[in-house]
Amino acid sequence: MSFLEQIEQFEQISLEEKFQAVTADDVALTLARDRLDGRDLLHLLSEPATGFLEEMAQKARRVTHQYFGRTIGLYAPMYIADYCTNYCTYCGFSAAVDFKRTKLTLAEIEQEAQAISASGIRHILVLTGEAPARTPMSYLVGAVEILKKYFSSIALEIFPMDEDDYRVLVDAGADSLTVYQEVYDRQIYKEVHPRGKKSDYSYRLLTPERGARAGFRAINIGTLFGLGEPRSEAFLAGLHAKYLEHEFPEVEISLSLPRMTKARGGIKPRNILSDKGFVQCMLAWRLFMPRLGLTVSTRESAAFRDKLIHLGATRFSAGSKTDVGGYASQHTDATPQFEITDERSVDEVAAMISKSGYQPVFKDWEIV
Ligand code: SF4
Repeated sequence: MSFLEQIEQFEQISLEEKFQAVTADDVALTLARDRLDGRDLLHLLSEPATGFLEEMAQKARRVTHQYFGRTIGLYAPMYIADYCTNYCTYCGFSAAVDFKRTKLTLAEIEQEAQAISASGIRHILVLTGEAPARTPMSYLVGAVEILKKYFSSIALEIFPMDEDDYRVLVDAGADSLTVYQEVYDRQIYKEVHPRGKKSDYSYRLLTPERGARAGFRAINIGTLFGLGEPRSEAFLAGLHAKYLEHEFPEVEISLSLPRMTKARGGIKPRNILSDKGFVQCMLAWRLFMPRLGLTVSTRESAAFRDKLIHLGATRFSAGSKTDVGGYASQHTDATPQFEITDERSVDEVAAMISKSGYQPVFKDWEIV
């Protein structure tokens, strides 16, 4: 069954009622098992599971060490353009928001690359808004060609494409793709994506599969916590990751947990995910999928990220800037997409990881 068909099946039932029916005994039985299925994920994300967080954390720590060792991969985001043709009601880059937009030239991208690589970072995540006419394929390929000189891994978070277009970027040297569904609840999806290409729910849902078929070696997905009901969103995002892992066993699958913050001109979060809820999601996903990568960005505070190292996280961004040209200070009037909360430098984040008994990993992949 395709993942779209799975979503359609879940739309016929009330996930809220399913969560309400879970008992503490269900959670205990799930925790006694090693190979978990979708029902177990539902148990671990339920309210009764909040009484088992310590047990979940101990097991998640063991499983993470077993599959990843004591390592945390480091990466940095690089925003190269903030033009966007979509109208996401929660984002400051929305076409509905009036501000001075910026796009780096290829020479400026090289300056950014030099500034970031000087910090030791070797994995880069390249971001644009979604405006294909402003950031066409020729521009993206040009950017990848430059970045290859400085970074061993290039991930893209750009407008969703057809498979053949992704293949061009893979051939150019990009190896990873990040694309968030933002919200799996189709009704809310419709409300928060009223216009633009992104309003096509199915096209976006199937984007990770197109990327995997095109040859990306790693795919990172996620839901933006703050839009849909958190337990249901975490459940569907977990099933999506499991589906991708099953269909594309050669591809590294990871999940991110971005929590929405109020953006300039944007709506307020409709559903708050608490710190405790955040930890529960991470632990539940880790136990559900032992090989799953778990990425935590600098949206989260330094103190909170320090704790997450021990709870299943595998990748941290560090020293991040979320405005276009932010590292080499090329466009001092550019606007950040969201505010950074953990403002520590790459060195400081790496030192904290070492102090916690883990190894900061700058490079675990090389483009050949
Ligand atoms: S979330 Fe992405 S697609 Fe939506 S407005 Fe912001 S930059 Fe554009």
